[in-house]
Amino acid sequence: MSLFEYAPAPESRSIVDIRPSYGLFLDGEFTAGTGTPRKTVNPATEEVLAEVATGSDEDVDRAVRAARRAFVKTWGPMRPADRGKYLFRIARLLQERAREFAVLETLDNGKPIRESRDVDVPLAAAHFFYHAGWADKLEHAGLGPAPRPLGVAGQVIPWNFPLLMLAWKVAPALATGNTVVLKPAETTPLTALLFAEICQQADLPPGVVNIVTGAGDTGRAVISHPDVDKVAFTGSTEVGRSIARAVAGTDKRLSLELGGKAANIVFDDAPIDQAVEGIVRGIFFNQGHVCCAGSRLLVQESVHDDVVAALQRRIGTLRVGNPMDKNTDLGAINSPEQLARIRELTAFGETEGATCWQPAGDLPAKGYWFKPTVFTDVSPAHRIARDEVFGPVLSVLTFRTPDEAVAKANNTTYGLSAGIWSEKGSRILKIADQLRAGVVWANTFNEFDPTAPFGGYKQSGYGREGGRQGLAAYLEASK
Ligand code: NAD
Ligand code: MG
Repeated sequence: MSLFEYAPAPESRSIVDIRPSYGLFLDGEFTAGTGTPRKTVNPATEEVLAEVATGSDEDVDRAVRAARRAFVKTWGPMRPADRGKYLFRIARLLQERAREFAVLETLDNGKPIRESRDVDVPLAAAHFFYHAGWADKLEHAGLGPAPRPLGVAGQVIPWNFPLLMLAWKVAPALATGNTVVLKPAETTPLTALLFAEICQQADLPPGVVNIVTGAGDTGRAVISHPDVDKVAFTGSTEVGRSIARAVAGTDKRLSLELGGKAANIVFDDAPIDQAVEGIVRGIFFNQGHVCCAGSRLLVQESVHDDVVAALQRRIGTLRVGNPMDKNTDLGAINSPEQLARIRELTAFGETEGATCWQPAGDLPAKGYWFKPTVFTDVSPAHRIARDEVFGPVLSVLTFRTPDEAVAKANNTTYGLSAGIWSEKGSRILKIADQLRAGVVWANTFNEFDPTAPFGGYKQSGYGREGGRQGLAAYLEASK
């Protein structure tokens, strides 16, 4: 039995018009793809939402040529302030149609409507607003008096934040004067296609943004096309490595945003209730499908039992189920493949000797689901302490001294993010300085802002997105 009973508060899906089938968005228009189309489903119900085109090598070539033409003829030569106006227009249209985007994102991805409504869509709009402001101020970006765009950007994104990752890629590319060929993830293409409609509504010149849907083969065609000047990828470390190999030896510029296994460090002086909220937010936000998720909880030994007990109590109140319900905390796992990966890694946790805990309660019968899960008695050698699960699974480890916390936190092949919970400001600053992580949160977690650069060390990738630093990924410095 849960602590509180809530009446269902379902968001209506009637605000979105999902077409039975979608083509590619090339040169300002929707056109049929020449590959075999794929179906995209709602992971919470297994219902087919639409059939979506697959871009072949030839379609990708058409897209790159359209992007090149736009770069040479319209977007490249345009006054920077005018480019900014288009970006402001896109940002406003995203806000105007926010509810439509949120509902569509939740249907296609499985994330709770509360998150798509309050996080994904507003942050996507904020990214366009922020970069719109930069468009005519690039001489102040710290890259010389007249930094130049690179040309055509080939961008490939994952399924965990479909619209937001699109915004992270498209907004800086356009603000800096580049044109784009973007490939969304195969399980979540719909908000990118709705974004294509926004580009039409904003009167963006044809070819500035091209959206080519499809799976890994289409992505490979985008990143390896000889006329692409810049490759930007967000996704798994494994695919990131193959892209780094494909791009090596060419004159393409590359940025990679890959996986993570972040340490969320709780010291004995931290306010426990507040830390528990941060731990929950760190690992259960977006079902844990978050590259910077706080998936390794490092707790100071003296407060371990109290923290774990409070955490389990809190997890018992989380509502798992219908993502369209405004009260839902955890939605569906995005795909059967991802569910299988989560199950495989958690099974390792049990055979390796960690203790698995899950709250009581049933999961919906249809769709792809996984309960919020906590492993205690985890040792640093366990696979659940090393491998990215990319699901709602937390591994709890302990430490005794600050030095041990730092050593354990940095004992990972990744380096994307970390969290520190302590009352002491001086301790926070000292520890943050020693962590090899691109983002370090103090007494909060999973907080995002377009003004703050995001990116990793080691196998989490290279390059930054957001902030002034993010502009450098799309510009050639001038002297
Ligand atoms: P994935 O690497 O399998 O797929 C990502 C994208 O790459 C998809 O669009 C896919 O179609 C495409 N792709 C697959 N093979 C390709 C190839 N050979 N060449 C070009 N494109 C190819 O990853 P995923 O399963 O979609 O996403 C989960 C992973 O992404 C996790 O490991 C997660 O940590 C990472 N991720 C990182 C960030 C970040 O900002 N660092 C953000 C989100 C996700
Ligand atoms: Mg889908």
